[in-house]
Amino acid sequence: MKRLIQWISLTLVASILLSACGTEKDNTKDPNAPLKVVTSFTIIADMASEIGGDLVEVHNLVPTGTDPHEYEPLPNDIKAATDADLLFYNGLNLEGGKKGWFFKMIDTVQQNEENVISLTERVEPMYLTNEDGREEEINPHAFIDPAVGIKMAEDLRDALVKKHPAKSEEIQKRGDEYVERLKAIDQEYEERIQDIPEDKRTLVTSERAFQYMTSHYGLREAYIWEIDTEENGSPAQIKSLVNFIREHQVPVLFIESNVDPRPMETVAAETDVRIAEKRIYSDEIGQPGDEVDTYVKYLNYNINLIHDELSK
Ligand SMILES: [Zn+2]
Repeated sequence: MKRLIQWISLTLVASILLSACGTEKDNTKDPNAPLKVVTSFTIIADMASEIGGDLVEVHNLVPTGTDPHEYEPLPNDIKAATDADLLFYNGLNLEGGKKGWFFKMIDTVQQNEENVISLTERVEPMYLTNEDGREEEINPHAFIDPAVGIKMAEDLRDALVKKHPAKSEEIQKRGDEYVERLKAIDQEYEERIQDIPEDKRTLVTSERAFQYMTSHYGLREAYIWEIDTEENGSPAQIKSLVNFIREHQVPVLFIESNVDPRPMETVAAETDVRIAEKRIYSDEIGQPGDEVDTYVKYLNYNINLIHDELSK
């Protein structure tokens, strides 16, 4: 009997809660109100704000300085994900894949699957090499390539347009303008990389984050480790890059904004190759007000740095 009463009161509480949420969410929705958008990390947050402007309210999950592979959502993230009209994520395992933190959160908040959108559906995955030489793990860093950024921005634009009929024309226009800016940057990558003397076109970084970009524009890539979430800068990894540098002509070494500089400093000391004067950006954009606080600035900054350092 006691159990039965407990069960009845639980069901009662749950149904009251559900109906309260239901009325709050559906009946008061103003068709002109900004869309509530949740993004998994800083680059997508910036794209959503650029394309959506005042017509979106963006809540970003993984902040600058935090690893997007292993994030633990906070209570206000859960609330934002519950209330969101749309949720955008990178995919390609950046957020840990279907068993990672992002989809755990989506399950918890019971979001409708059609509101949860990967921005790399049209991107051909590239693979990291594991210790046995097999290519099994997807490299998530496609967004470093501006040509991928174009596809991501187009898909984000189309999802916003569809979800906000009252403001669809305005969003379409903003999205088209943004995509045009990225297309100009893609063109600039083509031209500036071709401008680097051919024997100097090698990009050396700590993590193998630049695979999509280098293979697209015709740079050779070299690195110390495959991905930040695994072993970083072991003696064997350092030795392998040192050997590569001794066999190839490498003008300069780059260190990413978010990595420990010491392994690359060891490589520089052992090979006498200099380190670039400024850090290169890979996994994130900076805080608002930083030199590189938008995706457009991030792409421009990186190509200027790569071009100038490799042409010296
Ligand atoms: Zn990374």
